[in-house]
Amino acid sequence: GSSKQLLHIGILSSPGLGHIIPVVTLGNRLATFHNVSVTVFVITSGSSVAETEILKSAHKSKMIDVVEIPAVDISNLIDSNTKTVTQLCMLVRETLCVVKSVIFAMKHLLDALIVDIFTTEALSIAKEFGLPNYVYIPTNAWFTALTVYCPVLDKEIEGQYVDHKEPLKIPGCKPVRPEDVSDPLLDRNDQVYREYLKVLGIGFCLSDGILMNTWEDAEAGSLKALRENEILKAIVKSPVYPVGPLIRPEQQIIDGDDDGNNSVLNWLDKQIPNSVLYISFGSGGTLSSKQLTELAFGLELSHQKFIWVVRPPSEDGADKLYFTTGDQGENTPEYLPEGFQTRTKDFGLVIQMWTDQTRILSHPSVGGFLTHCGWNSSIESITNGLPMIAWPLYAEQRQNATMLTEELRVAVGPKVLPTKEVVEREEIEQLVRMVMQYKEGIELKENVKKLKMSAEKALSIGGSSHDSMCQVLKDIEKRSIH
Ligand code: UDP
Repeated sequence: GSSKQLLHIGILSSPGLGHIIPVVTLGNRLATFHNVSVTVFVITSGSSVAETEILKSAHKSKMIDVVEIPAVDISNLIDSNTKTVTQLCMLVRETLCVVKSVIFAMKHLLDALIVDIFTTEALSIAKEFGLPNYVYIPTNAWFTALTVYCPVLDKEIEGQYVDHKEPLKIPGCKPVRPEDVSDPLLDRNDQVYREYLKVLGIGFCLSDGILMNTWEDAEAGSLKALRENEILKAIVKSPVYPVGPLIRPEQQIIDGDDDGNNSVLNWLDKQIPNSVLYISFGSGGTLSSKQLTELAFGLELSHQKFIWVVRPPSEDGADKLYFTTGDQGENTPEYLPEGFQTRTKDFGLVIQMWTDQTRILSHPSVGGFLTHCGWNSSIESITNGLPMIAWPLYAEQRQNATMLTEELRVAVGPKVLPTKEVVEREEIEQLVRMVMQYKEGIELKENVKKLKMSAEKALSIGGSSHDSMCQVLKDIEKRSIH
């Protein structure tokens, strides 16, 4: 009834923009469309300007409450070989007791706790306090299926997955090509593999329900398998709720007085519709210096309009900037080929390190997206009706790329995996022309438009994702101790 108190839901985010953005977005969605009072607890790494900016605007928006929990210093536990994902799991684990005391102080106010993919160890805190608890996976159902099935693969398959001759079979789902598995699964001897199996593989299945940033029409097969396949169902145990695609609204980062971003928008205003390719590798992706050079020449050869968010190259791992993205680069990116900016000044724009992506993607002049296939970027592209060039780098991006190119058919990609081999400039030119100029682009665009419409339908009242979220809330009401 109307006299009933609002539900109050806590959501816990692990450090890093790729996690904070989807958690804040989920919080905003619950507050705006479902009349829920939301407190987002963010474990902050404190090392990224963009992270600070996102949190600042989340505080400012007043839609949700944001509680920052600075991560405990783990520098004495790691060395230069410690993988980013291991660091993430450790940061969260070492900070858990602080998280616990923060939640303890609020537990009488909370009706439920939602944790994100790297904070599943906090589910035990929710259980201890008698709170209904859920996991939010800010990516898709196919990835979720592989991840929860991994502890089984771990027993069944010997040797490295990447050396496996056949695709990895997941009950009821499309098989996954061995080279497409998420980074932490690439080396089963590394600590990161054990962490991943524990925190994600097993952790996903320990809650009262799993929320995912996907929707029925995009992933009918994988969702059906998670719900109905006997083997998968026995592993997952709890209900799955596709509640997406939830997209960060524009202007969440930029306050409006940012000159850099405005000049980009002014430039876009002068271009013709659908003519500009946007190139970005997410919040932390980097290329090797050889690949960076090839990409620059590929863009130059294609002669298509472009906006490119550039980062200094890195030779040892595409996610090295994960915790520091958004920090200002030098004034002239001297790592680009000599004269590149002069030669492309009539058709290209280079932005260093970071820009407000959703604002660019929603501009009518933009017609395509060369993306690292982070799931947020992928759905931002889809919901803006933009065909993609799939250029996966790390995490689950290879699996996303395969889904975008082979199943949803909204993207084209290079013949080789960019993480394995350098993509040559001629192929890049070809891919860019395909999406921006040739008829392949039109076909991709038709597919992406249909998908975009299905996404809008899913999120509207009575749509599958909206209904799914309502079910979560009903479940919380039923379980809530208040
Ligand atoms: N993003 C942005 N500006 C940038 C790079 C990224 O606004 O220069 C945003 C992007 O819109 C998306 C998020 O950061 O919402 C990146 O998430 P994604 O899942 O695509 O990749 P990740 O950063 O996790 O690799």
